[in-house]
Amino acid sequence: MLDPVWLLVLLPLAAASGWFVAKRDDIRKQTPAEFNLPSAYFTGLNFLLNEQPDKAIEVFIKVLELDSETVEMHLTLGNLFRRRGEVERATRIHQNLIARPSLSESQRIQALYELAQDYFKAGLFDRAESLFQELVDIPAHAESALRYLSQLYEQEKEWNKAISVLRQSEKLIGKDQSNIIAQYYCEMAEQALSDKKTGTANDYIQHALEEDDQCTRAIILLGEVQYHDADYRAAVQTWRTIEQQDPQFLSEIIDKLLDAYRRLDDDQGLEKFLDESLRKLRNPKLLIAKVKELRSKHGDADAEEFLTDWLGDNPSITGFRYLMELRKTGKDKMTDRDRIIDNVLTNTINTNSGYICQQCGFSGRSMHWHCPGCKGWTTIKPINEAHPPAR
Ligand SMILES: [Zn+2]
Repeated sequence: MLDPVWLLVLLPLAAASGWFVAKRDDIRKQTPAEFNLPSAYFTGLNFLLNEQPDKAIEVFIKVLELDSETVEMHLTLGNLFRRRGEVERATRIHQNLIARPSLSESQRIQALYELAQDYFKAGLFDRAESLFQELVDIPAHAESALRYLSQLYEQEKEWNKAISVLRQSEKLIGKDQSNIIAQYYCEMAEQALSDKKTGTANDYIQHALEEDDQCTRAIILLGEVQYHDADYRAAVQTWRTIEQQDPQFLSEIIDKLLDAYRRLDDDQGLEKFLDESLRKLRNPKLLIAKVKELRSKHGDADAEEFLTDWLGDNPSITGFRYLMELRKTGKDKMTDRDRIIDNVLTNTINTNSGYICQQCGFSGRSMHWHCPGCKGWTTIKPINEAHPPAR
């Protein structure tokens, strides 16, 4: 709620004045004579610390009526308005401040920083961009300005600019950003792939892998490019590395991987892959793929026998539900009671599968590499019986 920087500035003052015991009278009832500036200042601060920004705003407006020269109070008030979603009011306060000729350089810069955030929040990205670019040259604001710029370019999908901002930020704070830069290249590769420009897509993927050779998304995309170019053998080899490296993501490509084996007429390879990875990973999607293979090659009875044996050692709701389905199409017809059980199982599977962000808990039915909730990269993972959500 409250910027740590405000606490740093205000707390020592507050402690010195004994604000802990400050009365929390409704300030609107006080006459100007009773309205003591320092005490009002700390009453406002107290409201802020108690997460009552509306009351704090009332107090600070009153303070400004009595002393309109207090730059810090304008800054605090503007900040509060922005946080409350009143971006226009915040913008007006900050623009007025900047127009004051008496402002010191550091106050002007602080006001610029606040105004840049107002523009950002209002979606006025062109204005926000030019102010943040100005602030990158001010050491005290450089790191934060770069962070805003990268968010801005992400929203605008200006990936090359986002890359150069992260490189600047790497130099400035010494924190490795290569895994996020790899994601930016993957974004461009995905766009090229959807435009059917596989050569360009491949270039971006190679850049992504140079940044982060463990980038699962780049490996998935590389397989897509190879698959698109009908190089199914290469696609199979590429995708199978996911099994070793990040098995949770195998379910993302398993259907296409099986299809690539089929296009190669490589029944043996397909069977070997299913047997090996099913034993190792126990992923329900692999189990169903294996049972479907058995069905199409050896019939329902063999498939049912395999599945029943498997479930004896590896209980699985997905597997059990498929067993019910096998029986429905087999010799026994489904009864009404079977149908109820099938519905319960399907609902249970649906609520325990999908995708979840390990950073903010955002969940959904489709994969996002950039979390719509917390804007984290690669924080979302597929969940299923083999990979339940972390508790
Ligand atoms: Zn998230």
